[in-house]
Amino acid sequence: MKTLTVDLGDRSYPIHIGQGLLNQPELVRPHVRGTQVMIVTNTTVAPLYLDKARALFDGFEVADVVLPDGEQYKNLDTLKLIFDALIEKRFDRKCTLVALGGGVIGDITGFAAASYQRGVNFIQIPTTLLAQVDSSVGGKTGVNHPRGKNMIGAFHQPQAVIIDTDTLDTLEDRQLSAGLAEVIKYGLIRDAEFFDYLEDHLLHLLARDKDQLAYAIERSCWNKAEVVAADEREAGQRALLNLGHTFGHAIEAGMGYGNWLHGEAIAAGMMQAGYMSKLMGDLTDDDLRRMADAFTTARLPIYPPDDMSPERFLELMAGDKKVQAGTIRLVLLKAIGKAYVTGDYPQELLLRTLQEWRK
Ligand code: NAD
Ligand code: MG
Repeated sequence: MKTLTVDLGDRSYPIHIGQGLLNQPELVRPHVRGTQVMIVTNTTVAPLYLDKARALFDGFEVADVVLPDGEQYKNLDTLKLIFDALIEKRFDRKCTLVALGGGVIGDITGFAAASYQRGVNFIQIPTTLLAQVDSSVGGKTGVNHPRGKNMIGAFHQPQAVIIDTDTLDTLEDRQLSAGLAEVIKYGLIRDAEFFDYLEDHLLHLLARDKDQLAYAIERSCWNKAEVVAADEREAGQRALLNLGHTFGHAIEAGMGYGNWLHGEAIAAGMMQAGYMSKLMGDLTDDDLRRMADAFTTARLPIYPPDDMSPERFLELMAGDKKVQAGTIRLVLLKAIGKAYVTGDYPQELLLRTLQEWRK
């Protein structure tokens, strides 16, 4: 097992990564403050891992709530089901919530923990690759509003993150690939050496080699933890984590949420950002080819959907949360391993990117 720390002063917390961690109660028990534990999961994950998760908290007063599965349930109505369960069981301010599932469960449980009785403890047990390398670390929690993704939320850091790589055994291939998009992202934005490693090991990761997965997860979490420790509330460098996301969010919205997985959309989006960085005179043709090879090997798309016109992109990109005072701020690359945020670029190069980087 490997342990990293997210360094946030008195709110610092460990990330434990390894095989068989769902059989190690000593990892979670120190993080339970009172006697009451509420495990939040969904209908897909419950039959797979709920019994194991409950056993971790043997001796505590353990309850669970099983939510419907899907991004479309990441909303205020589903959040209420968690509060209903907590109140019905008379859970107090010292209770601990446990998020057992992918990013949807992590985000909604974290937000329940941020707001129940003005804030209670919570533990993340992420079970998708995306949640293990991204959403479970960093304290962004929340739910969607019909008019926008993650529109209602809070920053609330967990007490611990427990990543049992064995849970990836049951994950669908397409979800594994989607998680790899965020893994590759860390290489592109700030860790060129990791990108080199990934070029040689993506096939091992797709084959679910446990040691390589543990390493890639650890290195991804290390990168995310560093960024979060430096800029918890996204005043600066945390925005680099959005590489490909302004393009990608437009794809997700334009295609209807759920048709393109988030990881698929941001893979195409990172290629768009890469192509624009080439037009800016920073990336070389070879850099762009390396990026395209990595995403293709990871079984991810490199081009946006055919039927999304440049005009549609611009319209959707202008509605993104990251727009400040009318300019679409973008994360671009100076090189592989070196990203920057800018609102100051020739508009024409954005247009050319939308017109030229397509199948
Ligand atoms: P998800 O939570 O919908 O999980 C994907 C699917 O896999 C679901 O059907 C889920 O039930 C299933 N699943 C989960 N674990 C499984 C397992 N071990 N075996 C088999 N099936 C399993 O999607 P996701 O990609 O994990 O997360 C996406 C969400 O994360 C989005 O809502 C996004 O906004 C959020 N997110 C948040 C942050 C953050 O910083 N808070 C960062 C990135 C993404
Ligand atoms: Mg993302």
